[in-house]
Amino acid sequence: MSKLVNKVALVTGGSRGIGAAIAKRLAADGASVAITYAKDATSASAVVQAIELAGGKAVAIQADAASIEAVESAVEKTVATFGRLDVLVNNAGTAIPKTFEETSLEEMDHMIDLNLRGVFIATKTALKHMKDGGRIIMIGSCVGERVLTPGLVAYSATKGAVKMFAQGLSREVGSRGITVNNVQPGPIDTDLNPASGDWAVPQKAATALNRYGRVEEVAALVAFIAGPESSYITGTNLTVDGGTNA
Ligand code: NDP
Repeated sequence: MSKLVNKVALVTGGSRGIGAAIAKRLAADGASVAITYAKDATSASAVVQAIELAGGKAVAIQADAASIEAVESAVEKTVATFGRLDVLVNNAGTAIPKTFEETSLEEMDHMIDLNLRGVFIATKTALKHMKDGGRIIMIGSCVGERVLTPGLVAYSATKGAVKMFAQGLSREVGSRGITVNNVQPGPIDTDLNPASGDWAVPQKAATALNRYGRVEEVAALVAFIAGPESSYITGTNLTVDGGTNA
């Protein structure tokens, strides 16, 4: 696999879960990869080590996705380390599943900061450096389009906003050959959304495949969108949800 040779990718929140799988897959396809993380330096180092052991190039940068200074510095460090930037994957995000009545304004603000404001910051900064023909990929959510379970009012509102962010931005950067797409996972087994436990039961039941997804199944779609064969796909929402929204 060499579809991304000579390309440089930045994956926000790439130390664990879906972001870590995306980083490893893009590296396996030939890209040099920078990942950001907030707290877990050990997991971030493990991702870098795994990529390097497989013969790839990677760097981990501590950068809170909600901090403009930290993200600007992460983008600059990526370009300084690998010489360019071709692919941005806006993966860092979080959910606080609670009913609307129980959700505080602080919790809503936290999800907006990370899931939406963070996307704005990283995208704005990355576009200053991104080469023509680049790729901006959001990790939204299938609940950004349809909500089948209670407890996701605030989270799904942020992911619905990410969907429209991607659609709108595609209209502004298309002249540079840059594509902007929104990948919408369904229930994927990660620390954020483990496949075991009470919260998993209705999510699994809502899928057509009657199972949680694996992080690698999201990474495979992201790798396709990051690669040269997706050059005519932009401003769209690509759902990888086991049929949740069918
Ligand atoms: P995890 O919580 O398992 O992993 C989150 C990753 O993001 C970690 O690497 C974490 O690093 C990093 N991160 C967390 N906060 C910040 C921050 N403030 N700044 C920078 N990095 C941060 O999440 P998932 O892998 O499950 O989710 C990844 C994305 O996919 C999110 O946007 C989520 O909304 C979306 N998604 C997930 C689904 C699922 O079922 N899992 C379904 C649909 C969408 P650290 O440990 O250092 O904090």
